Amino acid sequence: MSVCRGCGRAIDWIKTTAGKNMPVDPEPVFVIEGDGRDRFVTDGGAVIVGRVARPEEESRDLPVAFVPHWKTCPNAGDFRRSGRG
Ligand SMILES: [Zn+2]
Repeated sequence: MSVCRGCGRAIDWIKTTAGKNMPVDPEPVFVIEGDGRDRFVTDGGAVIVGRVARPEEESRDLPVAFVPHWKTCPNAGDFRRSGRG
């Protein structure tokens, strides 16, 4: 666990299958794959595309993945510019 230099929130780093380190929010979410254009990364490092499941849609059958931190960071602009990796 580390801390975002942009906003000070806790973040995790996941190494994607492409070999990049991606900052993510530590809380995983259920993802509806193929029904959106947001990107998520699983704890295995695979990037999947879709959207966050609504609470009533959550199901064990859905993939669980992490939201890239730049989606939620209020200082994403700074963060991207100075981000490492
Ligand atoms: Zn941040």
